[in-house]
Amino acid sequence: MQTLNELPQVRGTLTPDRPLADLTWMRVGGPADVLFQPADLDDLSAFLAALDPAVSVFPMGVGSNLIVRDGGIPGVVIRLGRGFNGIDIADGQVTAGAAALDAHVARKAAEAGLDLTFLRTIPGTIGGAVRMNAGCYGAYMADVLAAVTYVQRDGTVVTVAPDALNLSYRNSVLPDGAVIVSARMAPPKGDADALAARMAEQLQKRDDTQPTKDRTAGSTFRNPAGLSSTGRADDVHDLKAWKVIDNADMRGATIGGAVMNTKHSNFLTNAGGATAADLEDLGEAVRKKVYATQGIDLQWEIMRVGRRTGEDTAK
Ligand SMILES: Cc1cc2nc3c(=O)[nH]c(=O)nc-3n(C[C@H](O)[C@H](O)[C@H](O)COP(=O)(O)OP(=O)(O)OC[C@H]3O[C@@H](n4cnc5c(N)ncnc54)[C@H](O)[C@@H]3O)c2cc1C
Repeated sequence: MQTLNELPQVRGTLTPDRPLADLTWMRVGGPADVLFQPADLDDLSAFLAALDPAVSVFPMGVGSNLIVRDGGIPGVVIRLGRGFNGIDIADGQVTAGAAALDAHVARKAAEAGLDLTFLRTIPGTIGGAVRMNAGCYGAYMADVLAAVTYVQRDGTVVTVAPDALNLSYRNSVLPDGAVIVSARMAPPKGDADALAARMAEQLQKRDDTQPTKDRTAGSTFRNPAGLSSTGRADDVHDLKAWKVIDNADMRGATIGGAVMNTKHSNFLTNAGGATAADLEDLGEAVRKKVYATQGIDLQWEIMRVGRRTGEDTAK
């Protein structure tokens, strides 16, 4: 890894050994070798063009779908800020910077009579929403995306149609090290007051059913929809992750400061003082018990990134 002095000059901020825990919802994890907060698109693109191609790059949003492991993230972590959070609405389309918060984008769109209400209760950024094909209440980013602009690892800026990203359930495919900088969305139209009312209703529904004030990263595992516990074609059904966790008697299970939330058992929670290892180990213990009791192989929805403490830190 290049030392700070050897890294390309920037107008934004480069911080070595920057702890990442306070930049994530779970509040766990070690430092980034270097955290880069670019001033604007030119700064980001010039930095990536000049950065040693061997150095890995990890873009993060507001860390609402992440467990950063205790040994931190090798290479450069890129976090977009003020230069990337604009929201422009014109001709029935919404163009938002990757650092714009989903909730903010949903509110502005609703005021303009455009329906991005599904984004109102998702606590991430537009960059994270594109990468994760975020969605809820039956709507996903894939339904509204018109174009995505990202900076490739070599610094070149490209704009692609959503088809190029292979958006699927909670996933998309981006080239390694690519950093999304903005997205253009073409939402359905709606009445501004009705959209505002719907968002208020959805917020209330969340608060009633999910631990929205706790340190979580949202749903821990994907719903194992379409899976069968017997393997028989006539035994395929839609299963909810929380239900199979309950069936395995893992609601409320703990390791260290990590707990499977008692309000919603698919929410892995830092109840105070958890390490990333506590959280990941508890998640793995749940997967093991669910498999042992029901033959279902739960898949993580939360992304776990970086190195566990004690792993080789060379990069
Ligand atoms: C209480 C709670 C409720 C939630 N409910 C939902 C829900 O209903 N639906 C849903 O879909 N999700 C939900 N989530 C999960 C999470 O909010 C989403 O996945 C969100 O889209 C993540 O955005 P983020 O900015 O926090 O990304 P991060 O968590 O920081 O990163 C997630 C992934 O996106 C990538 N990424 C982030 N920004 C960029 C960028 N600019 N360029 C390239 N890659 C990038 C990261 O590399 C990482 O791979 C919930 C989370 C919480 C805490």
